[in-house]
Amino acid sequence: MEMNIKPILGQAKKTPIVIAGPCSAETEEQVLATAHGLKDAGIDLFRAGIWKPRTRPGSFEGVGTEGLSWLKKVKEETGMKVTTEVANTQHVFEALKYGVDVVWLGARTTVNPFSVQEVADALKGVKIPVMIKNPINPDFKLWVGAIERIYKAGIENIAVIHRGFSYHGQTKYRNVPRWQIPIDLKRQFPNLEIICDNSHICGRRDTLFDVAQKAMDLDFDGIMTEVHPTPDDAWSDAKQQITPNQFIDLKDRLKQREASTDDIEFWEHMDHLRHEIDEIDEEIMNMMVKRMQLSDSIGQYKKRNNIAVLQPDRWNEILERAVAQGKAKDLSPQFVEALLKAVHQESINRQVAILENKKAQA
Ligand code: PEP
Ligand code: MN
Repeated sequence: MEMNIKPILGQAKKTPIVIAGPCSAETEEQVLATAHGLKDAGIDLFRAGIWKPRTRPGSFEGVGTEGLSWLKKVKEETGMKVTTEVANTQHVFEALKYGVDVVWLGARTTVNPFSVQEVADALKGVKIPVMIKNPINPDFKLWVGAIERIYKAGIENIAVIHRGFSYHGQTKYRNVPRWQIPIDLKRQFPNLEIICDNSHICGRRDTLFDVAQKAMDLDFDGIMTEVHPTPDDAWSDAKQQITPNQFIDLKDRLKQREASTDDIEFWEHMDHLRHEIDEIDEEIMNMMVKRMQLSDSIGQYKKRNNIAVLQPDRWNEILERAVAQGKAKDLSPQFVEALLKAVHQESINRQVAILENKKAQA
């Protein structure tokens, strides 16, 4: 679908888009204390959750409409624009009624096309910018689908928020970033601004800066961080929230990277290095071709002897050796494993095709 997506704040910004505010609006005092703590820090959008979609019942589900009048006060008292999450028609109407400047779709909404469509329908004919969080699970198409549904409703000012993906297993993140997914999105939609929600990626305070800096290094367009006057007392996401002053410090320490440069010397040197990379890539491809030819011969040999394609012992041996070799040469085990798995899978596919007579014999 051809889309002409426009910047979320109306105009593209040279410096990162900064969004900060509490996970949830809890009381009028808490919302205003956060807002006053942030008002001189160059915040583009003040965030606060009014309706909180919780994974399990029993936790704080948001103060509801009452909180919107506190956001209105934030605008009046500080001049900051405000944003909140909407998940259904009623949320959209209420948010619009109270003058919310930008709305966002949460991860638990993006995951459900019915809900996304409901919000899109409620937004028809309204010119309000919309931010779309990635779906909880690493499903690229669901994220794209949500962008398309909102765009089709007539909204052009769209940005996405990368908040990481749930992961079943041990990890230092609350939601693993899987940076390749937002990077792929940027490749498909070059105009689309990407904001990094470091709070929901980290789930803790001590790694917030590093994740935000990584987003800057990857040329993301902004950050969204949860800020609370007394984080330990927060009614939701207490562990990941920081005080306004801690946020200002984080923001001031962030190093912004340039998307590009006109420096001729820089590009000459880059050309040289890239040329070398291209040559290495070509070599890798040629080696892959050779490896697959060998693997085909093995497939034919297995077929003649009626031997199964998958030989688990052999595969374990290959993998362990490669991971150990990689470690000694400063390649991460994750990388070596992912690379070898892809190669091994391709070998298996080809050998299965040979055993089943679906591949012409070379
Ligand atoms: C939030 O922003 O507080 C929130 C609920 O986030 P997510 O939808 O990313 O879980
Ligand atoms: Mn939160």
